[in-house]
Amino acid sequence: MTSETADIELHCLGASREVGRSAFLLKTDKNLLLDYGLKIFDKSGQPQFPEPFSEKIDAMILSHAHLDHSGFIPHLYSGSGSGNNPSNPSHNLKWFSTPPTRDLCEILWPDSMKIMGDTLPYKTREYHLALKHWVPVAYERRISFGETQMTLSDAGHIAGAALVELEYHDKVVLYTGDFKNSPTRLHGGVAYDYDVNTLIMDSTYAKREHPDRKKLEQKLMDEIHETTDNGGTALLPAFSLGRSQELISIIRAHDRHIPIYLDGMGKDISLIYARYPGYISDVKKFRKDLSTVVSVRKNHQRMEATREPAVIVSSAGMMEGGPVLGYVVRLNPNSKIILTGYSVEGSNAWRLLNENALIINGNRLEAEFPVEYLDFSAHAGRSDLLNMIKSTNPEKIVLVHGDSTEEFERELKEDFGLDAVAPKLGDVIKL
Ligand SMILES: [Zn+2]
Ligand SMILES: [Zn+2]
Repeated sequence: MTSETADIELHCLGASREVGRSAFLLKTDKNLLLDYGLKIFDKSGQPQFPEPFSEKIDAMILSHAHLDHSGFIPHLYSGSGSGNNPSNPSHNLKWFSTPPTRDLCEILWPDSMKIMGDTLPYKTREYHLALKHWVPVAYERRISFGETQMTLSDAGHIAGAALVELEYHDKVVLYTGDFKNSPTRLHGGVAYDYDVNTLIMDSTYAKREHPDRKKLEQKLMDEIHETTDNGGTALLPAFSLGRSQELISIIRAHDRHIPIYLDGMGKDISLIYARYPGYISDVKKFRKDLSTVVSVRKNHQRMEATREPAVIVSSAGMMEGGPVLGYVVRLNPNSKIILTGYSVEGSNAWRLLNENALIINGNRLEAEFPVEYLDFSAHAGRSDLLNMIKSTNPEKIVLVHGDSTEEFERELKEDFGLDAVAPKLGDVIKL
């Protein structure tokens, strides 16, 4: 039966006035879960999961693989009755994403199980069950859940990341997940510019502009060349998903010959990036770039990497673990550490930037080499957010996934006359 009015409700189960554990329940004629992520640690060191719900879910839609959007999906298959969704221990629930997103989850979920241990309430069994219930959706393919139509399109954030458009009767809701509308080496940026009724928007950088990309790339190359010309190693601690691949593409666009070593989970993730045409700008070029990089698999390669002037791209991005720490203690004094990502207060990357020191195995180590920070964000900056609003012309804007969404709400209302809302955790909004 088709009803005249399209009532849509949005239940905010996470990423509301915070970054982390993105999870939203959108109720049309179906109950659709948009993202189901977690926060590995909050400020007090505790993990955070989405708010509980009691509805039976008809479909789960994942915007992209980052754990703050995907990390709690296996828990939907726990079926213990004690989980987040006691009325839905359904092992039949299907979840939908682009193919690279699924392959990336296959790598990221076991890593989170390793990091979080018993604080994560699911195990290998649920992980396998979840992977079995995946349904592939390519960009720009329309699929239906009852009377609700869904289309995924390129979000310009990481490989496979999607904006989720949901159309129900006369209403269009756009959930951005994480997005970037200006181009990077690997992504052309968001191309979506249709009018929508509601825009549910990633607002991570509501208060900050990112620097000009061209100048930033030049600065990175200058830093690298200055270091290697002096016989040093340019060590680039990097997130294994997205940033490692972007850095390889940038360096190779400017310098075909400088030796690059790639270490950590970024190696396997790069293979997924190279697997799928259509999810990064130029997959052939990326494959070629990757073929010139030494993928570090053995310990003797790690020794070699620091013996010659070279670039090392290695996880973990915040230097809280991973092979990057092994390199730090071996760097010669002409070397430099170049950070390119966000660092949480208290992490080693943060400590390096603020105290010129880091803690390895409980021992404090004063850094004897210079440390640089360059802002290569994969998120929209402030004016990008305003451009997204302009190009989608929404009647209502729901600001999520940000630490300053309340302030942004006020600003959009007062200075731009827009209907914006920064929901609290647990809020239900009628759209
Ligand atoms: Zn993300
Ligand atoms: Zn995110």
